[in-house]
Amino acid sequence: MADSPRSILNRLRLDRQLPEEWRLARISRQFTRVVVLARHMPNGVMWAKHSGTKQYAAARSLKMLGEAAVHLAAAIETTGAAAMPLAPAAIDFSSRDAGELTPAGQGPLTARVAAVQAGLGTFGLNNMVLTPEFGPRVHFAALLTDIALPAGMPLASELCPGLEACGRCAAICPQQAIPLKAAQGAALATTRGLNETACCRSTQPFGADAFVRHLSTVFAAPDRETVNKLIRHRTTGELWQEATFLKEERSTLLHALRGCVPSRCRLRRDIALAAPASGPAGRRASPRCGRRGRG
Ligand code: SF4
Repeated sequence: MADSPRSILNRLRLDRQLPEEWRLARISRQFTRVVVLARHMPNGVMWAKHSGTKQYAAARSLKMLGEAAVHLAAAIETTGAAAMPLAPAAIDFSSRDAGELTPAGQGPLTARVAAVQAGLGTFGLNNMVLTPEFGPRVHFAALLTDIALPAGMPLASELCPGLEACGRCAAICPQQAIPLKAAQGAALATTRGLNETACCRSTQPFGADAFVRHLSTVFAAPDRETVNKLIRHRTTGELWQEATFLKEERSTLLHALRGCVPSRCRLRRDIALAAPASGPAGRRASPRCGRRGRG
């Protein structure tokens, strides 16, 4: 997907779609093009029950995509042009918070908006980018360049049928972070949404917010014995792994990925739909659940 014309867009056009504090002109106005890299995450991850294993598999996928961006930038520069990869799993805490990597750690918002504007996919009900080929099971990264490349255009129609016609992602979300109600016949653009704070609670159990919470608990401990217990707690180990391996991919994903099979998506339905659901949300997981949400 990365070498398709669908993966390139004009940097100015992308900036017009972004809030001022996220615009790529803040990095440099000399770059005229954005190249989006996309990588399909393994379908088998949908079947994994063990959260650490699935997080690791997805995290490696995103990390490889980031490395591919570095290699592509180097290759572009052999032509005499300038290029710069953008980090796919880093948060700019000066303008964003942990919500930057929701939903499901698919990639930073800038790369996701770029993917949509370049024609790689369209935004789903839950703000994930759905692709015609793989639904939302795709990671995105991006690089900036000043090479004159032909640019793609957004797809002509939405891939997501919306809450009323589908709504599986909303039905399965353990935090109810995706809209479950909409006026009958409401357009997708007016229904789409995600409560990022709620999403982080499930998708980033050892992310930035959890790190602060754990440190606060340690500092507030009443005595040295409690401090020792807290710093030897499993949470410290999980946070260390998150910081050193990006084990969580900065997000545990999967609830938003399961069950989402827009038309033309090549994912075998049994992989998406037969995946085990966890917790009370699993009992709500039916393709018809979204329909009850009319308000
Ligand atoms: S599960 Fe259905 S409603 Fe949710 S993003 Fe996918 S296609 Fe859209």
